[in-house]
Order: sequence, then structure tokens, then C-alpha cells
Amino acid sequence: MPLADAIRTIPDYPKKGILFRDITTLLGDAKAFRKAVDELVQPWAGTKIDKVAGMEARGFILGGAVAHQLSAGFIPIRKKGKLPHKTVSVSYALEYGEDQMEMHEDAVNGPERVILVDDLIATGGTAEGAVKLLRKQGADVVAAVFVIDLPDLGGAKKIEALGVPVRTLVAFE
Ligand code: IMP
Repeated sequence: MPLADAIRTIPDYPKKGILFRDITTLLGDAKAFRKAVDELVQPWAGTKIDKVAGMEARGFILGGAVAHQLSAGFIPIRKKGKLPHKTVSVSYALEYGEDQMEMHEDAVNGPERVILVDDLIATGGTAEGAVKLLRKQGADVVAAVFVIDLPDLGGAKKIEALGVPVRTLVAFE
């Protein structure tokens, strides 16, 4: 089954006019979940990746599986105020306004090779913030990977313009 068929679309969520792409159906399908993780990591299989960084909250689920597959560590990137130890933070663009995301200050040790993971890239504002945060701590961000791309919103191009290759598996207009 194509991966796109394992993703559910919810109209008018979280507000009217939005088509929400819901990966919980993909996560609940053992074959689709394995296929998505295998395809996300495929270009880096057998290469040295030190850490995988996942964005709260769906990026934690995929990122944990990706980290295991690459024998890498995992870094949680969270919304402000959720991490218990000393943090570094950056502001990032939301549809309306901005917010802050954080990572533990000791999550990256020097120029480690890091892959960033999330379920979906839309405008790229969230991923751009995460790349800035990782680079602030000296990480070499080797790639950013997402199950879903919304190419009309230009996020993948924005991240590639920062010098980070982007891999996505399913595109929705
Ligand atoms: P961006 O910052 O505009 O690229 O938005 C991407 C962020 O919003 C990611 O963390 C996604 O999880 C979340 N997001 C935006 N739209 C959707 C959707 O349709 N389904 C699931 N997550 C979404």
C-alpha cells in the first residue's frame, strides 16, 4: 500500500478550511510505520549519524524510531518551559506571530552529525527554528526528514536554502 493511503485527512481541523494530515493511522499500521521509518533513513543507512533531533510531539515518535534505526542518540526539541535542565532557545515563525522552542544546552556535543525529524513540513518555520537551535550548539545538521511535504507552502525550499538537504516521502497539494 502506498504510504499516502495510510495517512488520514481531517477536514476543518484545527479550524475551518484547514485539511489536517493525520499520521496516527500510519503509526497504527505496523507495515506502514516500518516502511516510513526505513524510507526516511535510507540515504544514511550505514553512515555515522550521532544524533536525531525530533520536534514535539509527532517528531518524537518518528524520531525515536529513526534514531534506533541509525544507532544514534535522540534529542527532544520542545516548546518553551517543558525541559527540566538548562536550555537554549530560539524564536520561530508561526502562522500568526511567533513562539519559542528549546533544547537542553548539553544535548549536542561539538560538531555532531544530526538529522532533524518531524511528521510534516508546511511553511518550514518550525524546522528553520530547529536548524538554528542545533547550529547554535555547534551541530552539523546533515539533513531534515519529514513524512509529509506540503510543497505549495515552500518549507522544503526554505530549509534547503539554509544548506540542509530535505527528504520527504509523501506530497499533498
Ligand atoms: P511549518 O512550521 O509551517 O512548516 O509547520 C509544520 C509544523 O506544524 C510541524 O511541527 C507539524 O507537525 C505541524 N503541522 C502543520 N500542519 C499539519 C498537518 O496538517 N498535520 C500534522 N501536523 C501539521
